[in-house]
Order: sequence, then structure tokens, then C-alpha cells
Amino acid sequence: MNTTSIRNLGIIAHIDAGKTTLSERILWKTGEVHKVGEVHNGAATMDHMDQERERGITIASAATQAQWHDHRLTLIDTPGHIDFSIEVERSLRVLDGAVAVFCAVAGVQPQSETVWRQAKRYNVPLIAFVNKMDRTGANFERVRHQLRDMLGANPVATVVPLGSEAQFDGLVDLVEQTVWAWDEKGTPTTRDWSAEEHLHYAAARETLVEQIAEVDDVVMEAYLSQTVSTQLLKEGLRRATLAQRAVVVLAGTAFKNKGIENLLNAVVDYLPSPMDRTNVIGHTDAGDEQIAPNRNEPVAGLVFKTVEHQHGNLAFVRLYRGTLKTGDKVLNPRTGDVLRVGRLAVVKVDSTEDVAQAFAGDIVGVVGWKNARTGDTIADERHVVELERLNIAEPVLAWRLVAKNGAEMSKMVAALDKLCRDDPSLRLTSDTESGDPVLWGMGELHLDVTTERVRRDTGAVFSVGEPMVAYRERPTVASGLVDEKLAKQTGGKGQYARVVVVMEPRNDDQIVFVDEIVGGVVGKEFIQATEKGVREALTNGVHEYPVVGATVRLVDGDTHNVDSSAQAFQRAGFLAAKSALARAQSVVLEPIMAVTVDTPSAYVGDVVSDAQRRSGVLVNLDDNGSVGQIVFNAPLAQLGGYTTSLRSVSQGRASSSMVLHGYEPQRVAPKTGLRA
Ligand code: GDP
Repeated sequence: MNTTSIRNLGIIAHIDAGKTTLSERILWKTGEVHKVGEVHNGAATMDHMDQERERGITIASAATQAQWHDHRLTLIDTPGHIDFSIEVERSLRVLDGAVAVFCAVAGVQPQSETVWRQAKRYNVPLIAFVNKMDRTGANFERVRHQLRDMLGANPVATVVPLGSEAQFDGLVDLVEQTVWAWDEKGTPTTRDWSAEEHLHYAAARETLVEQIAEVDDVVMEAYLSQTVSTQLLKEGLRRATLAQRAVVVLAGTAFKNKGIENLLNAVVDYLPSPMDRTNVIGHTDAGDEQIAPNRNEPVAGLVFKTVEHQHGNLAFVRLYRGTLKTGDKVLNPRTGDVLRVGRLAVVKVDSTEDVAQAFAGDIVGVVGWKNARTGDTIADERHVVELERLNIAEPVLAWRLVAKNGAEMSKMVAALDKLCRDDPSLRLTSDTESGDPVLWGMGELHLDVTTERVRRDTGAVFSVGEPMVAYRERPTVASGLVDEKLAKQTGGKGQYARVVVVMEPRNDDQIVFVDEIVGGVVGKEFIQATEKGVREALTNGVHEYPVVGATVRLVDGDTHNVDSSAQAFQRAGFLAAKSALARAQSVVLEPIMAVTVDTPSAYVGDVVSDAQRRSGVLVNLDDNGSVGQIVFNAPLAQLGGYTTSLRSVSQGRASSSMVLHGYEPQRVAPKTGLRA
């Protein structure tokens, strides 16, 4: 397949907008599945896990291949819930373009805004699909305006919906000048505009041409000389989409199978192929290089997902450069492992199909790599590059997991280890006091889904302890000189080290060690040992939380030519950092979440007072008399059970999302802390 005929695309949406149904219909229309499963009764093909079926949400991204008009589409499913935003991030990294699905009734919702912004950050060209045109209250124009007003997009509607709500049954295509209609089974018919329709839609088409001319010089020139052909218009719209100067807006109903063909055509016409990706950068020892999708150059690929599969581990790789063949050897720069490409597989809806090779631009599964993790690069051994790692949010919430007995504990931990490898936004540590495993994640739902999965997959019996919040601590003033001398002379070889350090607060979250030793009073090896001790001390500060934002300068020291050792300097560094931190008035920081709530206006007052009870600080309140949006910042420690209480406050009608806003000095003393 020619690389220009490849479309690696994602479907992004607010939960419930219809992403799963749409993915399903795309696979049906492209002939990949023969029976349409309904999300209603939990049979959607793209949802792999039972749990997802039950919850009706799509958690894990699956990459599935389909064909449309001589083009190969690889559909990368992305989750709607922000708690799984790592899944969104990783798919945005590897896909080239995306379809953003909006509900024609609910319009732009908070999570669609978040995901939209993420897509912008990764420079992903987008097409908007206004779904659920069949529902009562559907309003295409309103969503189009929201795209402009709320998301700052330049929406270009290429269709006019015919009929609305239950009567929605067709689309006028303003580009091709055709009319589409669908019967009850979703079978389309299409015809050219009649003379009457030419007159009727002339103004709408003119507006479309003007809109494109405004963002594309070639179309502008043709427009001025009155020579805009359909082909030229499509090319202009493609350029504008790729440059993110326009977003094509389409309409339809996935559920009733209308408008899917137009969307697929638009994917082919307007969304980028891997050849259009010019922003992929690789780091090498000789500096950064641009990774062009050339088949004949050294291999560079990104592992963006690893899953357990019936034939062993399956690593999904997006190949950015080169050719990967079975039998090849590639390097994982993170681990230094040389990996053999045993089996290559392409994932279809119900099967995996072996292939002998994969090329730049392809997404391919590699079977059998045990230690490859999400975010790893694979590279040619003779030309090592490392691709940008995924932008992974720090886990902020943790649950202590208490297994019923030793056997249950082993089952549980083995399953959790596996899940942590697949999802880098999960982390497993252990509680220093009880020794219980502690699972960190990005929020309640994330932890809930993960532990449920462990229960279901392994049958392990365990309970969940009090939720714990990831506190940190940070120095607030300079410590002044701290002189730490370790001198033990108890017969035989002694232990001698002296270090003088200063600790200063930083504006960022880094720990920086600066060697300011002059005249070699402390040797290189001992300086390294001191740094090790300093860093070790700061993993667990005076309040027993990890320390962030400190510069430690080693300004002086002393060595004994017999009694000094690396060990002694490490110990001295450790002790010096501990006392410097105490003198630098280290304070506890807590995670503050930005919470966005959408609710019918009737509940705005209750939502706000509930937020205030949780020490929330109001950031924004919009209320148009029918629906309201409230944004507030609150300490994570005060947000336990928030979704449940929101549901009861609003009789289930409000929805919320939360993301980490930042760390701030603690307002209320912690009930339970977490010792990392
Ligand atoms: P997701 O959460 O975005 O994956 O959304 P789903 O595909 O699970 O759809 C959510 C609900 O909306 C399900 O009950 C679907 O049957 C329903 N739905 C999806 N598309 C449409 C549509 O075009 N019209 C109507 N009326 N309902 C739809």
C-alpha cells in the first residue's frame, strides 16, 4: 500500500457522544464486520473488555484496520473519560488525524474541550462529526457555533442536514453538489443536484467557497478569477485541514446508519496520511533529527500500547521510519535490549493476520516482546534514535490494597504488575508500615476500573483501604551552610567524610545537585556518592513525603586518605540533605484538582455549595438559565466520592471531569498521608 493511501485516525469524543457506535458503524460500512452490534445491549466490537461493556465506556485503545475506497484506515479507539487521558495522549501521539464526535443535542461538553485541547497540543488535524441528528433537540447549527465560540475552531460545514430529529434522513453535500439519502437499513442513495437545488444551495456553496478562500491562497486566487472547481475546492480544504486552519463539520446519526459514508469520504479526502507528518523528532547522540516516513532509512518506531494476547505479549508499534521484517533485530534504547522481530501481525476486528513486513506509516503488532513498555522507542542498532516519550500525568491518588492472604496477594500483585506495564499512568508501590501494595492512579474511576479488572481476571480476593493522596514537600527558604562531618574511628579502617552543602528553593519541581568543589578537596567519585546520598534523602523529606523544587550545592568538603569511602560520603550527603531540608523550612504540598461540572441550571446553587464544603475555590461560573458550567479548584483530599455526591445533588443530571491543576501548600492537615 502506498503510504499516501494510509489514514491512521482516532475518534475522540466526550463520553456518550456515540464514539463506540460510530466506530462500530465504520467497521460495518467498510465491510469489516457483518453484523452490527448495538452499544445498547453491550455488543460493540471495539470494546474488548467485559467491564467496558458493563460500564458502556471504552477504556483501552485498540487499533483496527479497515479499507475504504482503496485507502487503508487504521482506527485507533480512544477513551472518553478523562481519568484515562493517558490513553487519549498515547493515541494522539501515534495517529495522524482524528474525527471529533459531538452529540447534536448536548453539543460541546467539558471533556470534549479537554480532548480537543490535547489534540491541538499534538497538532492533530481534525474533522468534526455532529452525531445523533435523529434525537429530539438535535441542532446542527448550534454545535457549529459552539465549535467556533467554545473551541476557537474555524468550522466549515460541508453538508446541510435534511430534516431533523426523527425526520432526519439526508444530507446535501455542498462540495460535490449532491444529495444523499438513506433508507431504514442505512443503505445510501446519492444523486446530483437538480436545477432547483442548484439555485437553492448556490448561496450556501458560495459561503463555503469564501470560507475556504479565506484560509487558502490557491482557492482565493481561483475565487477571484471565478474558476473554483470541485477538485480545487477539495484540495484547498485538505490543505486548510492539515494546516489546522479549518475543521470540516459533518452531520449524521451513527445509530441510524446515516452520514457514515460522507464521513469516510472526508477522512480520505481531508485527513493526513503519514506522508503529511513532518513534526516527528528523534533524539540521537549527535543531536535531534527529523524523522521522515522513508521506508529505506533506519527503523524508528514507538511502542504505544502493550496487551496480553492469546499468543503472548502484543506490542502495538507505530512505525515512523524504515521497514520492519520478521527476523530483524531492533534496539530498545531504554533497556538496551536487542529485540528480535518474531511475528508481525495486523489487528482486524475479530482476528490478527500475520504479515511479513511493515513500513513507515504503518501500525503493526509485534508478538512476543516481554520487556517492551508503552512509550518505548524501537530503533536500528546502527542508528539509535529515541522518540519523544509520552506525556504522562503524575498519578495523584492511591489506594492501599489489602489481600485476604499470601496466595491472594501473589495473584493480585502479578496482575497489577502486568497492568502497570500496559498503563504508565498506574504505579505500584508498597506501604512502608503495613507492607501492603499501594496502587496509584489518576483518579477514583481509574483505580476502580483497574482493581475491578484484577478481581475479574484473577479472582483475587482483596479489599481497598482508605484512599491516599500524593502529597509532596518543598523547601521555602535557603538553608544556609550545613556542615556535616562523619568521623567514626572504632578500630580498623574508619569512616570519614565531610561535606558542606546549601539548599535553596526552586521555582520548578526539579531536584538539582550542583558540584561547586574547587581544588579537588573532594574527589569525583566521592562527589558522585554525595549526590546519591542527597537524592536518596530527598525521596522522603522531613514530613516523609517526596521533596520537589530544591537545588543542593556542594560547596566544600574534606577527605581522609585512609578512612574515606564512597559509602561514607553517601551517608554524609544523606545526613546533610536531611538537616538542610529542615532548615529550609520544608512545607507540605497537596494536589489541587481543577473540577469542571456541567449541570442543569436548577442545581447550580447546590453544586456550588457542595464545592465550597470541599474547600473549593470558584474559578468560573456560566449559567444561561437552562444549563450551567461551574469550574472550581479544590484539594484532591476533599474530593473523595465526588462523582457519587454530584449525582445525588443533581439527581444524576450533572457531569464532571477533573484534572490536576497543580500542587499548593496544604490548607488542611492530612488525615492519611502516603509514604512513598
Ligand atoms: P461513547 O460513550 O461515545 O462510546 O458512546 P456510545 O457509542 O456508547 O453511545 C452512547 C449512547 O448513545 C448509546 O446508548 C448509543 O446507542 C446512543 N447513540 C449513539 N449514536 C447515536 C445516534 O446517532 N442517535 C441516537 N439516537 N443515539 C445514539
